[in-house]
Amino acid sequence: MTKFSDLALDPRVLQAIADAGYETPTPIQAQAIPPALEGRDVLGIAQTGTGKTASFTLPMITLLGQGRARARMPRSLVLAPTRELAAQVAENFDIYAKQTKLTKALLIGGVAFGEQDKLIDRGVDVLIATPGRLLDHFERGKLLLTGVQIMVVDEADRMLDMGFIPDIERIFSLTPMTRQTLFYSATMAPEIERITNTFLSNPVKIEVARQATASTTIEQRLVEFTPTRKDRSFTEKRAVLRALIRGEGEACTNAIIFCNRKMDVDVVAKSLKAHGFDAAPIHGDLDQSQRTRTLDAFRDGELRLLVASDVAARGLDIPAVSHVFNFDVPSHPEDYVHRIGRTGRAGRQGKAFTIAVPSDGKYLAAIQSLVKMEIPRGEMPEGLDLAAAGDGGRPAREEKPGRGRGKERDGGRGRGRERGERREEAPVEAVEVVEAAPVREERVREERVRDERPREERPRRDRREDRRDDHRVVGMGDHVPEFILRSFRLPASAVTADEDEAPELPETVGAGTDE
Ligand code: AMP
Repeated sequence: MTKFSDLALDPRVLQAIADAGYETPTPIQAQAIPPALEGRDVLGIAQTGTGKTASFTLPMITLLGQGRARARMPRSLVLAPTRELAAQVAENFDIYAKQTKLTKALLIGGVAFGEQDKLIDRGVDVLIATPGRLLDHFERGKLLLTGVQIMVVDEADRMLDMGFIPDIERIFSLTPMTRQTLFYSATMAPEIERITNTFLSNPVKIEVARQATASTTIEQRLVEFTPTRKDRSFTEKRAVLRALIRGEGEACTNAIIFCNRKMDVDVVAKSLKAHGFDAAPIHGDLDQSQRTRTLDAFRDGELRLLVASDVAARGLDIPAVSHVFNFDVPSHPEDYVHRIGRTGRAGRQGKAFTIAVPSDGKYLAAIQSLVKMEIPRGEMPEGLDLAAAGDGGRPAREEKPGRGRGKERDGGRGRGRERGERREEAPVEAVEVVEAAPVREERVREERVRDERPREERPRRDRREDRRDDHRVVGMGDHVPEFILRSFRLPASAVTADEDEAPELPETVGAGTDE
Protein backbone atom coordinates (compact mmCIF):
# COMPACT_ATOMS: atom_id res chain seq x y z
CA MET A 1 0.00 0.00 0.00
CA THR A 2 1.26 3.47 -0.92
CA LYS A 3 2.38 5.63 1.99
CA PHE A 4 2.44 9.42 1.97
CA SER A 5 6.20 9.27 2.43
CA ASP A 6 6.45 7.38 -0.91
CA LEU A 7 4.91 10.31 -2.75
CA ALA A 8 7.83 12.78 -3.08
CA LEU A 9 5.88 15.50 -1.31
CA ASP A 10 7.61 18.44 0.36
CA PRO A 11 8.63 17.38 3.91
CA ARG A 12 6.66 20.37 5.26
CA VAL A 13 3.56 19.02 3.56
CA LEU A 14 4.23 15.54 4.99
CA GLN A 15 4.46 17.08 8.44
CA ALA A 16 1.15 18.90 7.99
CA ILE A 17 -0.51 15.68 6.80
CA ALA A 18 0.79 13.83 9.83
CA ASP A 19 -0.52 16.64 12.05
CA ALA A 20 -3.91 16.31 10.34
CA GLY A 21 -3.89 12.65 11.38
CA TYR A 22 -3.94 11.12 7.90
CA GLU A 23 -2.21 7.76 7.79
CA THR A 24 -2.47 6.59 4.21
CA PRO A 25 -3.32 8.33 0.95
CA THR A 26 -6.79 7.69 -0.44
CA PRO A 27 -6.88 6.02 -3.90
CA ILE A 28 -7.30 9.34 -5.75
CA GLN A 29 -4.37 10.78 -3.79
CA ALA A 30 -2.15 7.77 -4.41
CA GLN A 31 -2.88 7.94 -8.14
CA ALA A 32 -3.05 11.70 -8.78
CA ILE A 33 -0.19 13.03 -6.68
CA PRO A 34 2.74 11.34 -8.51
CA PRO A 35 1.80 12.55 -12.03
CA ALA A 36 0.82 15.97 -10.68
CA LEU A 37 4.28 16.28 -9.09
CA GLU A 38 5.81 15.41 -12.46
CA GLY A 39 3.97 18.37 -13.96
CA ARG A 40 1.43 16.28 -15.90
CA ASP A 41 -2.17 17.26 -16.44
CA VAL A 42 -4.58 15.18 -14.40
CA LEU A 43 -8.20 14.37 -15.13
CA GLY A 44 -9.74 13.08 -11.90
CA ILE A 45 -13.16 11.51 -12.04
CA ALA A 46 -14.01 11.54 -8.40
CA GLN A 47 -16.54 13.01 -6.13
CA THR A 48 -16.51 14.58 -2.76
CA GLY A 49 -15.50 12.42 0.17
CA THR A 50 -12.76 10.68 -1.81
CA GLY A 51 -10.00 13.01 -0.58
CA LYS A 52 -9.80 14.76 -3.95
CA THR A 53 -9.11 18.20 -2.45
CA ALA A 54 -5.84 17.02 -0.93
CA SER A 55 -5.04 15.17 -4.16
CA PHE A 56 -4.56 18.53 -5.89
CA THR A 57 -3.65 20.76 -2.91
CA LEU A 58 -0.71 18.66 -1.70
CA PRO A 59 1.18 18.57 -5.03
CA MET A 60 0.38 22.24 -5.63
CA ILE A 61 1.97 23.24 -2.35
CA THR A 62 4.99 21.09 -3.12
CA LEU A 63 5.40 22.50 -6.63
CA LEU A 64 4.89 26.10 -5.53
CA GLY A 65 7.40 25.68 -2.69
CA GLN A 66 10.04 27.19 -4.93
CA GLY A 67 9.65 30.68 -6.32
CA ARG A 68 7.85 33.83 -5.30
CA ALA A 69 4.56 35.43 -6.20
CA ARG A 70 4.54 38.67 -8.20
CA ALA A 71 2.12 41.53 -7.72
CA ARG A 72 -1.28 40.86 -9.31
CA MET A 73 -0.02 37.65 -10.87
CA PRO A 74 -1.14 34.60 -8.93
CA ARG A 75 0.99 31.53 -9.54
CA SER A 76 -1.87 29.09 -9.30
CA LEU A 77 -5.62 29.12 -9.54
CA VAL A 78 -8.31 26.88 -8.08
CA LEU A 79 -11.84 27.29 -9.44
CA ALA A 80 -14.77 25.92 -7.47
CA PRO A 81 -18.47 26.20 -8.37
CA THR A 82 -19.78 27.57 -5.07
CA ARG A 83 -18.56 29.85 -2.33
CA GLU A 84 -18.72 27.09 0.24
CA LEU A 85 -16.59 24.76 -1.82
CA ALA A 86 -14.09 27.52 -2.55
CA ALA A 87 -13.95 28.35 1.17
CA GLN A 88 -13.49 24.67 1.96
CA VAL A 89 -10.57 24.40 -0.47
CA ALA A 90 -9.07 27.48 1.19
CA GLU A 91 -9.42 25.83 4.62
CA ASN A 92 -7.71 22.70 3.30
CA PHE A 93 -4.95 24.82 1.83
CA ASP A 94 -4.39 26.49 5.22
CA ILE A 95 -4.08 23.10 6.91
CA TYR A 96 -1.67 21.56 4.41
CA ALA A 97 0.44 24.70 3.81
CA LYS A 98 0.75 25.74 7.42
CA GLN A 99 4.48 24.92 7.54
CA THR A 100 5.18 26.96 4.40
CA LYS A 101 5.12 30.66 3.66
CA LEU A 102 2.79 30.34 0.68
CA THR A 103 0.03 32.92 0.48
CA LYS A 104 -3.51 32.63 -0.79
CA ALA A 105 -6.52 34.80 -1.59
CA LEU A 106 -10.13 33.72 -1.73
CA LEU A 107 -12.34 35.43 -4.29
CA ILE A 108 -15.96 34.61 -3.68
CA GLY A 109 -19.22 36.48 -3.87
CA GLY A 110 -20.45 38.03 -0.66
CA VAL A 111 -16.96 39.01 0.46
CA ALA A 112 -15.89 42.64 -0.11
CA PHE A 113 -13.54 43.27 -3.01
CA GLY A 114 -11.20 45.61 -1.11
CA GLU A 115 -9.42 43.13 1.18
CA GLN A 116 -8.93 40.59 -1.57
CA ASP A 117 -7.67 43.33 -3.91
CA LYS A 118 -4.98 44.21 -1.39
CA LEU A 119 -3.81 40.62 -1.13
CA ILE A 120 -3.71 40.21 -4.90
CA ASP A 121 -1.87 43.52 -5.28
CA ARG A 122 0.83 42.18 -3.02
CA GLY A 123 0.98 38.90 -4.94
CA VAL A 124 -0.42 35.50 -3.99
CA ASP A 125 0.76 31.98 -4.64
CA VAL A 126 -2.71 30.44 -4.71
CA LEU A 127 -5.89 32.13 -5.80
CA ILE A 128 -9.08 30.23 -4.95
CA ALA A 129 -12.21 31.55 -6.62
CA THR A 130 -15.65 31.04 -8.03
CA PRO A 131 -15.56 31.68 -11.80
CA GLY A 132 -17.85 34.71 -11.83
CA ARG A 133 -16.03 36.53 -9.10
CA LEU A 134 -12.66 35.81 -10.67
CA LEU A 135 -13.77 37.31 -13.98
CA ASP A 136 -15.19 40.33 -12.16
CA HIS A 137 -11.76 41.00 -10.66
CA PHE A 138 -10.12 40.41 -14.00
CA GLU A 139 -12.45 42.79 -15.80
CA ARG A 140 -11.75 45.46 -13.19
CA GLY A 141 -8.13 45.24 -14.23
CA LYS A 142 -7.02 44.00 -10.82
CA LEU A 143 -5.63 40.71 -11.87
CA LEU A 144 -3.38 39.12 -14.48
CA LEU A 145 -3.67 35.42 -15.18
CA THR A 146 -0.56 35.16 -17.31
CA GLY A 147 1.52 33.97 -14.36
CA VAL A 148 -0.69 30.96 -13.61
CA GLN A 149 1.46 27.84 -13.64
CA ILE A 150 -1.11 25.44 -12.16
CA MET A 151 -4.85 25.64 -12.69
CA VAL A 152 -7.35 23.43 -10.89
CA VAL A 153 -10.98 23.06 -11.88
CA ASP A 154 -12.93 21.38 -9.09
CA GLU A 155 -16.41 19.87 -9.49
CA ALA A 156 -16.62 20.62 -13.20
CA ASP A 157 -19.90 18.74 -13.49
CA ARG A 158 -21.47 21.16 -11.06
CA MET A 159 -19.99 24.07 -13.02
CA LEU A 160 -21.78 22.67 -16.04
CA ASP A 161 -25.05 22.45 -14.11
CA MET A 162 -24.66 26.05 -13.04
CA GLY A 163 -23.89 27.36 -16.50
CA PHE A 164 -20.27 28.27 -15.76
CA ILE A 165 -18.68 26.43 -18.66
CA PRO A 166 -18.32 29.56 -20.87
CA ASP A 167 -16.61 31.30 -17.92
CA ILE A 168 -14.28 28.35 -17.44
CA GLU A 169 -13.38 28.38 -21.13
CA ARG A 170 -12.66 32.10 -20.94
CA ILE A 171 -10.49 31.66 -17.85
CA PHE A 172 -8.57 28.84 -19.53
CA SER A 173 -7.91 31.13 -22.48
CA LEU A 174 -6.57 33.87 -20.18
CA THR A 175 -3.96 31.57 -18.64
CA PRO A 176 -0.74 30.50 -20.37
CA MET A 177 -0.82 27.47 -22.67
CA THR A 178 2.10 26.08 -20.69
CA ARG A 179 0.12 25.83 -17.46
CA GLN A 180 -0.47 22.50 -15.75
CA THR A 181 -4.14 21.61 -15.37
CA LEU A 182 -5.70 19.43 -12.69
CA PHE A 183 -9.34 18.88 -13.57
CA TYR A 184 -11.94 17.14 -11.40
CA SER A 185 -15.46 16.07 -12.16
CA ALA A 186 -17.77 13.47 -10.65
CA THR A 187 -19.17 12.60 -14.07
CA MET A 188 -18.00 12.99 -17.66
CA ALA A 189 -20.87 14.62 -19.51
CA PRO A 190 -20.15 15.22 -23.23
CA GLU A 191 -19.65 18.95 -22.58
CA ILE A 192 -17.07 18.19 -19.87
CA GLU A 193 -15.34 15.77 -22.20
CA ARG A 194 -15.17 18.49 -24.85
CA ILE A 195 -13.55 20.94 -22.40
CA THR A 196 -10.99 18.42 -21.24
CA ASN A 197 -10.14 17.51 -24.85
CA THR A 198 -9.65 21.17 -25.65
CA PHE A 199 -7.73 22.41 -22.63
CA LEU A 200 -5.92 19.45 -21.10
CA SER A 201 -2.77 18.14 -22.61
CA ASN A 202 -2.34 14.39 -22.59
CA PRO A 203 -3.81 14.07 -19.09
CA VAL A 204 -3.41 11.12 -16.77
CA LYS A 205 -6.97 9.92 -16.32
CA ILE A 206 -7.86 8.66 -12.87
CA GLU A 207 -11.24 7.31 -11.99
CA VAL A 208 -12.02 6.34 -8.45
CA ALA A 209 -14.94 4.08 -7.77
CA ARG A 210 -18.19 5.93 -7.95
CA GLN A 211 -20.13 5.94 -4.80
CA ALA A 212 -23.13 4.83 -6.82
CA THR A 213 -23.80 2.16 -4.31
CA ALA A 214 -24.34 4.04 -1.13
CA SER A 215 -22.30 3.20 1.90
CA THR A 216 -23.58 0.14 3.73
CA THR A 217 -23.57 2.11 6.96
CA ILE A 218 -26.52 4.14 5.64
CA GLU A 219 -29.99 2.77 6.30
CA GLN A 220 -32.25 4.06 3.54
CA ARG A 221 -36.01 4.41 3.72
CA LEU A 222 -38.50 5.61 1.17
CA VAL A 223 -41.70 7.02 2.62
CA GLU A 224 -44.31 7.24 -0.11
CA PHE A 225 -47.71 8.77 0.33
CA THR A 226 -50.52 10.19 -1.74
CA PRO A 227 -51.54 13.68 -0.64
CA THR A 228 -55.17 14.02 0.37
CA ARG A 229 -55.46 16.65 -2.34
CA LYS A 230 -53.00 17.64 -5.03
CA ASP A 231 -52.70 21.21 -3.83
CA ARG A 232 -51.83 20.04 -0.32
CA SER A 233 -48.76 18.10 -1.32
CA PHE A 234 -46.30 20.69 0.04
CA THR A 235 -48.18 21.12 3.33
CA GLU A 236 -48.55 17.41 3.90
CA LYS A 237 -44.94 16.67 3.06
CA ARG A 238 -43.98 19.06 5.82
CA ALA A 239 -46.25 17.20 8.22
CA VAL A 240 -44.67 13.90 7.18
CA LEU A 241 -41.21 15.39 7.67
CA ARG A 242 -42.02 16.57 11.18
CA ALA A 243 -43.49 13.21 12.08
CA LEU A 244 -40.43 11.39 10.74
CA ILE A 245 -38.07 13.60 12.74
CA ARG A 246 -40.16 13.14 15.86
CA GLY A 247 -40.31 9.40 15.24
CA GLU A 248 -36.53 9.18 15.23
CA GLY A 249 -36.40 10.86 18.63
CA GLU A 250 -32.98 11.27 20.19
CA ALA A 251 -31.38 9.01 17.62
CA CYS A 252 -31.64 12.00 15.30
CA THR A 253 -28.87 14.06 16.83
CA ASN A 254 -28.61 16.25 13.76
CA ALA A 255 -29.86 16.14 10.21
CA ILE A 256 -29.63 17.73 6.82
CA ILE A 257 -32.97 18.19 5.09
CA PHE A 258 -32.70 18.59 1.34
CA CYS A 259 -35.16 20.47 -0.83
CA ASN A 260 -34.95 20.79 -4.60
CA ARG A 261 -35.65 24.53 -4.62
CA LYS A 262 -34.14 27.25 -2.53
CA MET A 263 -37.51 28.91 -2.02
CA ASP A 264 -38.70 25.68 -0.43
CA VAL A 265 -35.56 25.56 1.71
CA ASP A 266 -36.66 28.80 3.35
CA VAL A 267 -40.25 27.73 3.79
CA VAL A 268 -39.40 24.32 5.22
CA ALA A 269 -36.90 25.84 7.66
CA LYS A 270 -39.38 28.46 8.82
CA SER A 271 -42.13 25.90 9.14
CA LEU A 272 -39.93 23.60 11.23
CA LYS A 273 -38.96 26.50 13.46
CA ALA A 274 -42.60 27.44 13.88
CA HIS A 275 -43.21 23.91 15.08
CA GLY A 276 -40.50 24.16 17.70
CA PHE A 277 -37.64 22.47 15.86
CA ASP A 278 -34.13 23.87 15.90
CA ALA A 279 -33.71 24.50 12.16
CA ALA A 280 -32.01 26.95 9.83
CA PRO A 281 -31.75 27.25 6.05
CA ILE A 282 -28.73 27.38 3.81
CA HIS A 283 -28.90 28.30 0.14
CA GLY A 284 -27.28 30.62 -2.34
CA ASP A 285 -29.45 33.68 -1.67
CA LEU A 286 -28.36 34.07 1.92
CA ASP A 287 -25.47 36.39 2.49
CA GLN A 288 -22.11 34.84 3.05
CA SER A 289 -21.77 35.71 6.75
CA GLN A 290 -25.14 34.14 7.49
CA ARG A 291 -24.24 30.99 5.56
CA THR A 292 -20.97 30.72 7.41
CA ARG A 293 -22.65 31.25 10.78
CA THR A 294 -25.29 28.62 10.04
CA LEU A 295 -22.74 26.08 8.86
CA ASP A 296 -20.45 26.68 11.82
CA ALA A 297 -23.38 26.27 14.21
CA PHE A 298 -24.33 23.00 12.51
CA ARG A 299 -20.76 21.70 12.55
CA ASP A 300 -20.39 22.65 16.22
CA GLY A 301 -23.58 20.84 17.18
CA GLU A 302 -25.39 24.05 18.15
CA LEU A 303 -27.91 23.69 15.34
CA ARG A 304 -29.80 20.42 14.95
CA LEU A 305 -31.48 20.67 11.56
CA LEU A 306 -29.90 22.19 8.48
CA VAL A 307 -32.33 22.69 5.60
CA ALA A 308 -30.31 22.89 2.41
CA SER A 309 -30.33 23.06 -1.36
CA ASP A 310 -28.06 20.67 -3.24
CA VAL A 311 -25.68 23.33 -4.42
CA ALA A 312 -25.24 24.90 -1.00
CA ALA A 313 -24.59 21.55 0.66
CA ARG A 314 -22.61 19.88 -2.08
CA GLY A 315 -19.14 18.88 -1.06
CA LEU A 316 -19.44 20.29 2.41
CA ASP A 317 -17.48 18.23 4.83
CA ILE A 318 -19.59 17.77 7.93
CA PRO A 319 -18.32 14.61 9.56
CA ALA A 320 -21.09 13.49 11.93
CA VAL A 321 -24.61 13.75 10.55
CA SER A 322 -27.00 11.16 11.98
CA HIS A 323 -29.84 11.66 9.48
CA VAL A 324 -30.59 12.93 6.01
CA PHE A 325 -34.14 13.73 4.99
CA ASN A 326 -34.96 14.22 1.34
CA PHE A 327 -37.93 16.51 1.56
CA ASP A 328 -38.04 16.24 -2.22
CA VAL A 329 -36.91 13.36 -4.39
CA PRO A 330 -33.95 14.84 -6.25
CA SER A 331 -34.45 15.26 -9.98
CA HIS A 332 -30.80 14.39 -10.76
CA PRO A 333 -30.19 10.82 -9.57
CA GLU A 334 -26.55 11.56 -8.63
CA ASP A 335 -27.82 14.10 -6.14
CA TYR A 336 -29.49 11.28 -4.23
CA VAL A 337 -26.13 9.62 -3.72
CA HIS A 338 -24.52 12.92 -2.73
CA ARG A 339 -27.30 13.76 -0.34
CA ILE A 340 -27.46 10.50 1.53
CA GLY A 341 -23.66 10.38 1.54
CA ARG A 342 -23.75 13.28 4.02
CA THR A 343 -24.58 10.70 6.66
CA GLY A 344 -22.96 7.38 7.49
CA ARG A 345 -19.51 8.87 6.99
CA ALA A 346 -16.28 7.41 8.29
CA GLY A 347 -17.89 4.15 9.34
CA ARG A 348 -20.62 5.79 11.40
CA GLN A 349 -24.23 4.65 11.17
CA GLY A 350 -26.60 6.95 9.34
CA LYS A 351 -30.20 7.01 8.27
CA ALA A 352 -31.59 8.57 5.10
CA PHE A 353 -35.31 9.09 4.60
CA THR A 354 -36.82 10.13 1.28
CA ILE A 355 -40.33 11.50 1.13
CA ALA A 356 -42.05 10.77 -2.18
CA VAL A 357 -45.40 11.50 -3.74
CA PRO A 358 -46.82 9.76 -6.84
CA SER A 359 -45.49 12.41 -9.25
CA ASP A 360 -41.91 11.52 -8.18
CA GLY A 361 -42.17 8.15 -9.92
CA LYS A 362 -39.81 8.82 -12.81
CA TYR A 363 -37.14 10.39 -10.58
CA LEU A 364 -37.32 7.45 -8.21
CA ALA A 365 -36.92 5.04 -11.08
CA ALA A 366 -33.79 6.91 -12.24
CA ILE A 367 -32.32 6.85 -8.73
CA GLN A 368 -33.01 3.18 -8.22
CA SER A 369 -31.45 2.36 -11.53
CA LEU A 370 -28.33 4.37 -10.59
CA VAL A 371 -27.91 2.83 -7.14
CA LYS A 372 -28.90 -0.56 -8.56
CA MET A 373 -31.28 -1.35 -5.76
CA GLU A 374 -34.80 -0.71 -4.69
CA ILE A 375 -34.85 1.75 -1.82
CA PRO A 376 -36.49 -0.09 1.08
CA ARG A 377 -39.99 1.19 1.75
CA GLY A 378 -40.60 2.72 5.15
CA GLU A 379 -43.87 3.06 7.01
CA MET A 380 -45.68 6.35 7.22
CA PRO A 381 -45.13 7.69 10.73
CA GLU A 382 -47.72 6.34 13.14
CA GLY A 383 -50.67 8.45 14.13
CA LEU A 384 -50.10 11.02 11.42
CA ASP A 385 -53.36 12.57 10.28
CA LEU A 386 -52.58 14.13 6.94
CA ALA A 387 -55.98 15.67 6.51
CA ALA A 388 -55.45 17.61 9.72
CA ALA A 389 -52.00 18.86 8.75
CA GLY A 390 -51.55 22.57 8.31
CA ASP A 391 -55.12 23.81 8.02
CA GLY A 392 -57.21 21.32 9.85
CA GLY A 393 -58.42 19.90 6.59
CA ARG A 394 -60.06 23.13 5.47
CA PRO A 395 -60.75 23.00 1.74
CA ALA A 396 -58.58 25.36 -0.21
CA ARG A 397 -59.79 27.78 -2.81
CA GLU A 398 -58.83 26.67 -6.25
CA GLU A 399 -56.28 28.96 -7.81
CA LYS A 400 -57.01 30.14 -11.32
CA PRO A 401 -54.26 29.19 -13.74
CA GLY A 402 -51.79 31.98 -14.36
CA ARG A 403 -52.39 33.89 -11.15
CA GLY A 404 -49.71 32.42 -8.96
CA ARG A 405 -46.88 34.54 -10.21
CA GLY A 406 -48.77 37.79 -9.86
CA LYS A 407 -49.41 37.05 -6.23
CA GLU A 408 -45.77 36.46 -5.53
CA ARG A 409 -44.85 39.78 -7.02
CA ASP A 410 -45.87 42.16 -4.32
CA GLY A 411 -42.38 42.71 -3.09
CA GLY A 412 -42.41 40.17 -0.31
CA ARG A 413 -44.72 41.96 2.08
CA GLY A 414 -48.03 40.27 1.59
CA ARG A 415 -46.62 37.55 -0.57
CA GLY A 416 -48.84 34.58 -1.09
CA ARG A 417 -48.61 32.00 1.63
CA GLU A 418 -49.54 28.48 1.11
CA ARG A 419 -53.25 28.57 1.60
CA GLY A 420 -54.53 26.94 4.71
CA GLU A 421 -51.18 27.26 6.46
CA ARG A 422 -51.75 30.42 8.41
CA ARG A 423 -53.72 29.03 11.27
CA GLU A 424 -51.29 26.44 12.41
CA GLU A 425 -47.96 27.67 11.12
CA ALA A 426 -46.17 30.80 12.12
CA PRO A 427 -45.88 33.23 9.21
CA VAL A 428 -44.16 31.55 6.36
CA GLU A 429 -42.79 33.81 3.70
CA ALA A 430 -43.23 33.40 0.03
CA VAL A 431 -44.68 30.54 -1.86
CA GLU A 432 -48.03 29.78 -3.07
CA VAL A 433 -48.67 26.31 -4.30
CA VAL A 434 -50.70 26.44 -7.43
CA GLU A 435 -51.41 23.12 -8.99
CA ALA A 436 -53.35 22.14 -12.03
CA ALA A 437 -52.14 19.91 -14.84
CA PRO A 438 -48.70 18.42 -14.09
CA VAL A 439 -47.00 20.54 -16.77
CA ARG A 440 -48.32 23.71 -15.24
CA GLU A 441 -47.30 22.62 -11.81
CA GLU A 442 -43.71 22.30 -12.93
CA ARG A 443 -43.81 25.72 -14.53
CA VAL A 444 -45.18 27.35 -11.40
CA ARG A 445 -42.62 25.65 -9.20
CA GLU A 446 -39.85 26.88 -11.51
CA GLU A 447 -41.15 30.39 -11.29
CA ARG A 448 -41.22 30.32 -7.54
CA VAL A 449 -37.46 30.03 -7.54
CA ARG A 450 -37.12 33.69 -8.45
CA ASP A 451 -36.40 36.06 -5.64
CA GLU A 452 -39.21 38.52 -6.00
CA ARG A 453 -37.91 41.17 -3.66
CA PRO A 454 -36.94 44.47 -5.23
CA ARG A 455 -33.33 44.28 -6.34
CA GLU A 456 -32.08 46.68 -3.69
CA GLU A 457 -33.55 44.47 -0.96
CA ARG A 458 -31.96 41.30 -2.23
CA PRO A 459 -28.69 40.10 -0.67
CA ARG A 460 -25.73 41.17 -2.78
CA ARG A 461 -24.30 38.27 -4.61
CA ASP A 462 -21.77 37.47 -7.14
CA ARG A 463 -23.12 39.40 -10.12
CA ARG A 464 -22.47 36.73 -12.64
CA GLU A 465 -23.93 33.97 -10.47
CA ASP A 466 -26.88 36.24 -9.89
CA ARG A 467 -27.44 36.75 -13.57
CA ARG A 468 -27.26 33.07 -14.31
CA ASP A 469 -29.82 32.28 -11.63
CA ASP A 470 -32.22 34.92 -12.63
CA HIS A 471 -32.12 34.80 -16.36
CA ARG A 472 -32.68 31.32 -17.48
CA VAL A 473 -34.34 31.01 -20.81
CA VAL A 474 -37.43 28.96 -21.53
CA GLY A 475 -36.62 25.77 -23.34
CA MET A 476 -32.84 26.12 -23.14
CA GLY A 477 -32.26 24.44 -19.80
CA ASP A 478 -28.80 25.20 -18.47
CA HIS A 479 -27.21 25.53 -21.84
CA VAL A 480 -27.94 29.13 -22.57
CA PRO A 481 -25.42 30.65 -24.96
CA GLU A 482 -23.32 33.34 -23.33
CA PHE A 483 -24.53 36.10 -25.70
CA ILE A 484 -28.11 35.70 -24.50
CA LEU A 485 -27.06 36.26 -20.90
CA ARG A 486 -24.86 39.23 -21.73
CA SER A 487 -25.93 42.50 -20.17
CA PHE A 488 -26.01 45.78 -22.02
CA ARG A 489 -23.85 48.06 -19.97
CA LEU A 490 -24.12 51.81 -19.89
CA PRO A 491 -21.07 53.60 -21.23
CA ALA A 492 -18.42 54.03 -18.53
CA SER A 493 -19.13 57.76 -18.36
CA ALA A 494 -22.71 57.09 -17.39
CA VAL A 495 -21.79 54.74 -14.53
CA THR A 496 -21.56 56.66 -11.33
CA ALA A 497 -22.08 55.29 -7.87
CA ASP A 498 -21.70 51.53 -7.86
CA GLU A 499 -19.86 49.95 -10.70
CA ASP A 500 -20.37 46.55 -9.14
CA GLU A 501 -24.09 46.69 -9.79
CA ALA A 502 -25.21 45.31 -13.15
CA PRO A 503 -28.24 46.91 -14.80
CA GLU A 504 -31.46 44.94 -14.55
CA LEU A 505 -31.89 42.42 -17.30
CA PRO A 506 -35.15 41.46 -18.91
CA GLU A 507 -36.85 38.57 -17.17
CA THR A 508 -36.71 35.11 -18.53
CA VAL A 509 -37.81 31.95 -16.87
CA GLY A 510 -37.32 28.31 -17.52
CA ALA A 511 -35.75 25.17 -16.24
CA GLY A 512 -32.39 25.22 -14.64
CA THR A 513 -30.59 24.52 -11.44
CA ASP A 514 -31.65 26.19 -8.34
CA GLU A 515 -28.51 28.15 -7.68
P1 AMP B 1 -12.69 15.65 0.01
O1 AMP B 1 -13.09 14.51 -0.86
O2 AMP B 1 -11.49 16.36 -0.50
O3 AMP B 1 -13.83 16.57 0.28
O4 AMP B 1 -12.22 15.05 1.44
C1 AMP B 1 -13.11 14.43 2.31
C2 AMP B 1 -12.56 14.30 3.73
O5 AMP B 1 -11.50 13.36 3.80
C3 AMP B 1 -12.00 15.58 4.34
O6 AMP B 1 -12.51 15.67 5.66
C4 AMP B 1 -10.52 15.36 4.42
O7 AMP B 1 -9.98 16.05 5.51
C5 AMP B 1 -10.43 13.87 4.60
N1 AMP B 1 -9.20 13.26 4.06
C6 AMP B 1 -8.59 13.60 2.91
N2 AMP B 1 -7.52 12.81 2.71
C7 AMP B 1 -7.47 11.94 3.74
C8 AMP B 1 -6.59 10.86 4.09
N3 AMP B 1 -5.57 10.51 3.32
N4 AMP B 1 -6.85 10.19 5.23
C9 AMP B 1 -7.90 10.53 6.00
N5 AMP B 1 -8.76 11.53 5.73
C10 AMP B 1 -8.55 12.23 4.61
